[in-house]
Amino acid sequence: MPELPEVETVCRGLRAKLVDKRIDRVKVRRPDLRIPFPNDFVPRLMGRNVRSIDRRAKYILMHLDDGSVLICHLGMSGRLLISEGPPDLGPHDHVLIGTDDGTHVVMHDVRRFGLMTLARETELDAHPLLAGLGLEPLSTSFDGAYLSRVLKGRRMPIKGALLDQSVMAGVGNIYACEALYHARISPRRLATSVSGRRAERLALAVKSVLEKAISAGGSSLRDYAQTSGELGYFQHHWAVYGREGEPCPNCDCESGIKRLVQSGRSTFYCPTRQR
Ligand SMILES: [Zn+2]
Repeated sequence: MPELPEVETVCRGLRAKLVDKRIDRVKVRRPDLRIPFPNDFVPRLMGRNVRSIDRRAKYILMHLDDGSVLICHLGMSGRLLISEGPPDLGPHDHVLIGTDDGTHVVMHDVRRFGLMTLARETELDAHPLLAGLGLEPLSTSFDGAYLSRVLKGRRMPIKGALLDQSVMAGVGNIYACEALYHARISPRRLATSVSGRRAERLALAVKSVLEKAISAGGSSLRDYAQTSGELGYFQHHWAVYGREGEPCPNCDCESGIKRLVQSGRSTFYCPTRQR
């Protein structure tokens, strides 16, 4: 499932191809993905200029020249494919958007948990999809003090609390595991006990794992540009995620990397290093 760094990479790829272009072709090939497309989806997009593209949590926000915003979420398996000229569409290619210079973007989503919808720019903060999201972890206000404050009183394991999008927007299972490892905090530790220096360590670890992944995405974007046209997925080098039984990269512990299941999700961690 794409998390913040993958979505950020997709945004950067789209920005390079679509900003200042005029949308002159839109095809929607089914009535819905996770939610229905708006009835007037196609006419509202046609003829619009793309002003800018940014991201909030895992949502891609494409700002158009009439004050509306195309909101896109990739769900579990959604992908955006870019091509010069009209592509051949397969059964899982649900939306096609083409611009005046011949660039085409296809939304491909096998499991259809993704979505595309339209909102007014002025209503964005209050939009049901976006209201209630916590701070962006890469923003300057996301720090140890913020984490201490939002974790206070939460009597649940820190790993689960980090997946709550009202605590931290856009981070999912993979980067929560990685951040806890780098901050040397046990995934089982009570969230409310993560405060002070420990919360500061965690805030820094979150930023650092995300920034590294985004820069890896940036280099893969340059490689991908010539080949598949697919945005946002790249070769990762995770320290713990998916590495059960492997040696721990940052310590000489005997234990190696262990896996445990918390709220139905796998957590990967080092029981020696993380307390
Ligand atoms: Zn270790």
